[in-house]
Amino acid sequence: MKISDMVAKRTRRLLKGVARSAAVELERLRSIPGTPEELNFFYDVLEAAYVRNDPAPMLDARPDKDLFVGVYCMVVPEELIYAAGAIPVRLCAGCFESSQIGEDRVPRDGCPLVKSSMGLSMQKGLKVFDLCDIVAIPTTCDAKRKLGEELSAFKEVWMIETPHIKDADFSRRIWMEQMYALKAKLETVKRNGTRGKRINARRMAAAIQDTARAQAEMRRLLSLRSAEKPLIWGRQATAVVNAFAYAHVNRWTEAVTRLNNRLAAMAENDQPMADSGRPRIYIAGSPSLFPNLKIPTLVEEMGGVVVADESCAGDRYLYDPVGSTEKNLNDQMLGVASRYLAPCVCPSFTPNDDRLTLIQRMITDFAVDGVLYHVLKGCVVYDFEVNRVENALRNNQIPLLRVETDYNPEDVEQLRTRIEAFIEMLKSKRSRTKQAVS
Ligand code: SF4
Ligand code: SF4
Repeated sequence: MKISDMVAKRTRRLLKGVARSAAVELERLRSIPGTPEELNFFYDVLEAAYVRNDPAPMLDARPDKDLFVGVYCMVVPEELIYAAGAIPVRLCAGCFESSQIGEDRVPRDGCPLVKSSMGLSMQKGLKVFDLCDIVAIPTTCDAKRKLGEELSAFKEVWMIETPHIKDADFSRRIWMEQMYALKAKLETVKRNGTRGKRINARRMAAAIQDTARAQAEMRRLLSLRSAEKPLIWGRQATAVVNAFAYAHVNRWTEAVTRLNNRLAAMAENDQPMADSGRPRIYIAGSPSLFPNLKIPTLVEEMGGVVVADESCAGDRYLYDPVGSTEKNLNDQMLGVASRYLAPCVCPSFTPNDDRLTLIQRMITDFAVDGVLYHVLKGCVVYDFEVNRVENALRNNQIPLLRVETDYNPEDVEQLRTRIEAFIEMLKSKRSRTKQAVS
């Protein structure tokens, strides 16, 4: 068999495997009893990206004309990309099938997110990856830094030097320089006669406003999720935010607005999605990325409900709005740069006490019973911080369960046993507290 035939066969196998896993996960989500129809938009977005392999309509894009910028992590300002007339697509991936292919270039001990993204870029065929004219990668953790080098064999890569000590003048200076360098780069990206637009104050204001609307609805969703009687399952909410990666910001915002209105009506009519007897779980640590939703799914299958998470592909992704409403481009650039650096509590920053403060605040605001600390194998930075988080939670008497996993479905039963035991322990703790109060 010719090499080109072997490559084509491998691609077909990969796309089939990815589509199958995504379809299974979507079927699992769609078959949750009482699923509001307002969630269908988000499932359709994920289906378009991974099952139908036709993401352009959900991105409001014309693949032959528009420019696409792949982004990694949550520190690349999508406002700048929109302002340059391009479309951002977040490429942090959650596919088991491609993580195996990615091992050809990423060390076995590397995290599955990076392996999965690498595999999809190497093998080609999945359009959300192939569409991107350039990929912007921040030097957040070691895995992302090295991913950039490896990916440059397949795509144009633009690295964004990300300072790791946020609270220092030199960091702010470096970050601003990086933002202006990214701006200049985006203005010169070109393909088939289409070129990035000059970013001016008017275009920036529009992009900031569009993203701010998405952030406002995201915060409203979070506030609805804090209700005593849960209105939405955590795995459904994870899918909602994951879908942001493959949908046009305005279409996503309209869909979340409809969902929020529906959830508000459910609250008013006392029609919760789950009963209030379930232990309320906060998921901390590495992100859950579609189609790998095994952690939130297991928590909820075993009797808990995920009320919030701190994931960079979940509740934290769209949490912080840009502070600046300035009309001047330099001030807008400053506002956008600050929004992506200062409040970010990714574990790649040091010191990272802000993260402890955020988790403790969420524990209180969401009346959390227990924390499930998710470590993707090879994600050293999140694993490093587990002890500090556990110690901080001890003061609040909140138990923490650390689970380490990757995208391989084989460990599901073993995880299920541990998570079930954790949920049972939280249930007993709840009933003891209830007895003591009464
Ligand atoms: S948590 Fe890790 S993967 Fe997520 S945005 Fe931060 S550095 Fe990137
Ligand atoms: S922060 Fe962790 S999960 Fe994210 S890319 Fe780095 S190693 Fe992977």
